[in-house]
Amino acid sequence: METEFIEILGARENNLKNVSLKIPKRKLTIFTGVSGSGKSSIVFDTIAQEAGRELNETFSNFVRTFLPKYGRPDVDSISNLSTAIVVDQKRLGGNSRSTLGTITDINSLLRLLFSRLGEPNIGLSFNFSFNDPHGMCQTCEGIGQIMTLDIDKALNTEKSLNDGAILLPGFGVGTWQWKMYANHGFFDNDKKKIKDYTKEEYAKLVYAKPEKILINIMDGEMNSTYEGLIERFTRQNIKTDREKSQANQKKIEAFTSIQKCSDCNGKRYNETALASKILGYNIYDMTAMQIDELVEVLKKIEDKTLAPIVQSIIERLENLIHIGLDYLSLTRETSTLSGGESQRVKMVKHLSSSLTDVMYIFDEPSIGLHSRDVHRLNQLLLKIRDKGNTVIVVEHDPDVIKIADHIVDVGPKAGSQGGNIVFEGSFNDLKHTDTLTGKFLGKRLELNVNPRISHEFYETKKSSIHNLKNVSLQIPKGLFTVVTGVAGSGKSTIVNEVFIKEYTEAVVIDQSAVSANIRSNSATYTGIMDLIRQIFADENKVSAGLFSYNSEGGCPNCGGTGIIETDLSFMDSMKTVCEDCGGKRYKKDVLGYQYKGKNIVNIMEMSITEANEFFEHKEIMKKLKSIIDVGLQYMTLGQPLNTLSGGECQRLKLAKELNKKGNIYIMDEPTTGLHMSDITNILSIIDRLVKKGNTVVVIEHNLDIIRRADWIIDMGPDGGNRGGEILYSGNLMGLKECNRSITGKYI
Ligand code: ADP
Ligand code: ADP
Ligand code: ZN
Ligand code: ZN
Repeated sequence: METEFIEILGARENNLKNVSLKIPKRKLTIFTGVSGSGKSSIVFDTIAQEAGRELNETFSNFVRTFLPKYGRPDVDSISNLSTAIVVDQKRLGGNSRSTLGTITDINSLLRLLFSRLGEPNIGLSFNFSFNDPHGMCQTCEGIGQIMTLDIDKALNTEKSLNDGAILLPGFGVGTWQWKMYANHGFFDNDKKKIKDYTKEEYAKLVYAKPEKILINIMDGEMNSTYEGLIERFTRQNIKTDREKSQANQKKIEAFTSIQKCSDCNGKRYNETALASKILGYNIYDMTAMQIDELVEVLKKIEDKTLAPIVQSIIERLENLIHIGLDYLSLTRETSTLSGGESQRVKMVKHLSSSLTDVMYIFDEPSIGLHSRDVHRLNQLLLKIRDKGNTVIVVEHDPDVIKIADHIVDVGPKAGSQGGNIVFEGSFNDLKHTDTLTGKFLGKRLELNVNPRISHEFYETKKSSIHNLKNVSLQIPKGLFTVVTGVAGSGKSTIVNEVFIKEYTEAVVIDQSAVSANIRSNSATYTGIMDLIRQIFADENKVSAGLFSYNSEGGCPNCGGTGIIETDLSFMDSMKTVCEDCGGKRYKKDVLGYQYKGKNIVNIMEMSITEANEFFEHKEIMKKLKSIIDVGLQYMTLGQPLNTLSGGECQRLKLAKELNKKGNIYIMDEPTTGLHMSDITNILSIIDRLVKKGNTVVVIEHNLDIIRRADWIIDMGPDGGNRGGEILYSGNLMGLKECNRSITGKYI
């Protein structure tokens, strides 16, 4: 059969230089290139974007109003696309009813099994669901935990209602929620402090069950419902099916306490459901065991008529095991899975689906995987391809890149110096090119045979959280320590749940967003903007505020955002570039002021490298140098922070810390999003931090990072309950000799 291609002509999103390329269909294509070269701009912003848009066009106008909006990417044409499924590292999230078992549909198959085979049998499968009234524990309604309003935090008893005694968000004096309490004549709003309330008054305010009441409004009376604070808060914030925003969640947490449900002991099911057993296990027991152990139990079921159901459960579990998630249990809440774990769960879901001729797009699927397990990922990618799908992967790990049918290398460098296709072809041909990817393939950094030495340690108490086997951590002060071990061995647990809790002064430099606000950019975040504004003010003898689009300098039409949002009643709002300032954000007259021949917008459009050549100001140059040192020289000064990737956010945060002393820094997989050639960069940053007297602790799988450590802490030997031990603690030379260490065999 002749190979078909997806054909892209003239792509210009972000830094792309009008590129054209062909991607073979039903093959595995891997995109490589340094961070910021333009891989995402092609794969996500152009290909996936257009696929989503074309799919939307097939729906009626009415249906489309409910779908996400896709703008047309800046590209001349794309032909021969298939439906795209993007499998990224966004965490699965979900509420507390969403577990690994529910999201993979394995729980529903187990329920079916119990409804046929459980002893005693209690009927249909919904009786075995903690999300169904027939199966759930009545007390916690299937959550396993009970969240209650902590009334001591919700009320300031030293105040009266009119003074703002109710501290809950949304209950401020004068709000309609406040009026529920203040406008009924139940309480002395003005004088009486809550602590002086009678027993009856306090009960009315706090514990009252809902009751119908008449309230006075301007021209008469109206029926309403009165309820005490606990009842009201619980109904609005706890017993609600609405997805809560993270900000809201945080607010609620401040006023509540959570306890394991004492009725079901956290198991979520009611007694009837738990009484029914197969081979001595109830449905909770099965979902609570590690999935590799569950497979062994299921294999013992002999009933022939149920073989197809059993087989199909085992198949799904084995897919999870093959991708290296053997250490999880089906009860694990999806919101606690890491980005890499989430992506692998999503992959397995698609593997069980029967779709073919779909285009699957993966973003660095090797994140979080130990070298030992990368081949499992490879098998999964090939399996998805062999079902007749087109597989597109953005990846930096040479062990994944080598299995590609076709490689597209983007470069030659980052930002404005990237955006071209510098190589297309096979792995063997790539090895012989002199692109950055070609040059670094197969190269390993030298082993650190002269590690720094320390005689002082940060030490934690012994811990048994999650899978930890009563271990304590010792981190040498002032060194570069790498925590290693296969996925699920306990690295994050010992660092994030134990070490950080005891050494709260440690600075965590993670990949979470720096700011979701379109008003912040790299210059404001690093403090460079203040200095630039002052330079412009001094030069032109005007106020510095004029050069801020967030204050007097901002375009009045768009309020300094550069865009106009039109509210289309119940549809998504529409965003258009502001006609007055043309998206430049500033008032016209501000652009008349110059410094060395450039106005403020010209400056915002400069890359960090260009700015470093342009400014002679010491403090600005020092800050710019830090950004260059973390490898973000290709960003522009005005690039909004909400356009940065997780890896870029992490490095920008690092740039701010570079000149500090005596701190403990913690990083989780800082090589995420980094090309092999970028890794030497991050290593020299770490080196600089350590030389200044800081202690750096990094969780990593990347062998080059591991090979440069002063000190290694290897967790294992395996994942889940077969892990949780500290196998080795010491320098690299000793690690190689440690027989039980899997990591030692790979360095
Ligand atoms: P890669 O995926 O190879 O790391 P990207 O495609 O994300 O690279 O980025 C290519 C260039 O485009 C970089 O200079 C990046 O800063 C810039 N860029 C990416 N997204 C945006 C955006 N939304 N707005 C402005 N610039 C962007
Ligand atoms: P690593 O960081 O080495 O991948 P983790 O510390 O994330 O390993 O996990 C160690 C063990 O603890 C695993 O068995 C994992 O399933 C379990 N675990 C991790 N986080 C949670 C959690 N929030 N709830 C329950 N179990 C968890
Ligand atoms: Zn319960
Ligand atoms: Zn404007």
